[in-house]
Amino acid sequence: MANTAIVGINWGDEGKGRMVDLLTSDYDVVIRYQGGGNAGHTVINEYGKFALHLLPSGLFRPGVVNILGNGVALDPENLWEEIQSVTSQGVPITPENLKISDRASLLLPWHRTLDGLEEARLADKKFGSTKQGIAPFYSDKYQKKTILAGELLYPDHLKEHLETLLEWKNLTLTRVYGADPVTMEDLEAWLVNACEKIKPFICDTGAFLRQAQADGKKILFEAQLGALRDLDYGIHPYTTSSNAIAAYAPVGSGLPSAKIDEVVGVVKAYSTCVGEGPFVCEMFGEEAEALRAAGFEYGAKTGRPRRVGPIDIVATRYGVQVQAATNIALTKMDVLSYMDKIPVCTRYIVKGQETDQFPFPALLDQAQPVIEFMDGWKCDISGARKWEDLPEAARKYVEYIESQIGCHIGYVSVGPERDSIIIR
Ligand code: GDP
Repeated sequence: MANTAIVGINWGDEGKGRMVDLLTSDYDVVIRYQGGGNAGHTVINEYGKFALHLLPSGLFRPGVVNILGNGVALDPENLWEEIQSVTSQGVPITPENLKISDRASLLLPWHRTLDGLEEARLADKKFGSTKQGIAPFYSDKYQKKTILAGELLYPDHLKEHLETLLEWKNLTLTRVYGADPVTMEDLEAWLVNACEKIKPFICDTGAFLRQAQADGKKILFEAQLGALRDLDYGIHPYTTSSNAIAAYAPVGSGLPSAKIDEVVGVVKAYSTCVGEGPFVCEMFGEEAEALRAAGFEYGAKTGRPRRVGPIDIVATRYGVQVQAATNIALTKMDVLSYMDKIPVCTRYIVKGQETDQFPFPALLDQAQPVIEFMDGWKCDISGARKWEDLPEAARKYVEYIESQIGCHIGYVSVGPERDSIIIR
């Protein structure tokens, strides 16, 4: 397939990073097209273990060009730290294999401050933000009150633009939140310590991509988070502030003419959710503890324990639909091996009625899960590499999910390592 998007079907953390890492060998270009450093993709390969936040997962493959598209929240400080951390583990990162769109907006130092101030103001009504500044960043982007990465290449213009933004933003910081103002000296330090470092990677990635397309190069679009966190289609307002769906990939990547031939939707064999908001199939108590421990479900960025539950067919089917997935990667099947009976959330009860449709967000709080059980397989499946290697109960589990969500499951992942995969 020429152009492929790898996206999350659920609440994020489905294992997209491991799928991109696996599939990048077939692609020439890997692009991150939305989101920022507020989540993490975990990748394990011959270089070691990495929690990537903003960097595309194709960096580990020689010859692959990685792009941060115009749709991302480009945080120069975090990005520079991440570049240093990954290169210190022996992975080369140069302007040849990493290109930053000159049209990507910069996450400015006050965005993280504002995120923290607003979550503190909301107190018990908080959204569970990772406080990486993503929501204030995207609000400002749509108000056209951010700096484009390419402006770093024009220092006189940049200074003037920063001064104008600073004057405006200090009104919010000081008058709305009673916080300290940001000074031009703060911004100058940020320019020297972070922005200067990433400058060599900034270029016209749109022109690069148009040429790549003309040359018939194969492009992989890498999403962050999942369908249920999509700004327009997710569990509003507990969503992220960007579009995590595959349909946004052409816009956020810098190649609006791109046609996406295949959408690989990543689904975890059970459910996890980080932060606040409705999570209909949530498990509690010992049952939840056991699943969390088996899957090591702690946030890649924050270390927060993730909320866990059985696979949610209602939410997953909806995620498949809004992602327009053409192929599913079912990850972490090995984690379920300890269970005697495997719970599955098959339907919801909303206002006394059973439904298999994902409800409008305002109704999610009152939705109750209908849980059914399937036979467990109770043996280690992490060594399985072929479909036939899986015990019958595991195959039945995969086939049942496939029949319910309406999309072929082409990959079954049985471990975090690159080769712990069954291709169907
Ligand atoms: P992402 O943001 O969607 O890439 O997901 P995360 O990186 O937050 O979470 C996926 C976690 O599960 C990572 O620690 C992966 O190494 C791990 N992982 C991915 N696939 C599998 C699998 O099939 N089995 C196991 N045991 N771990 C997996």
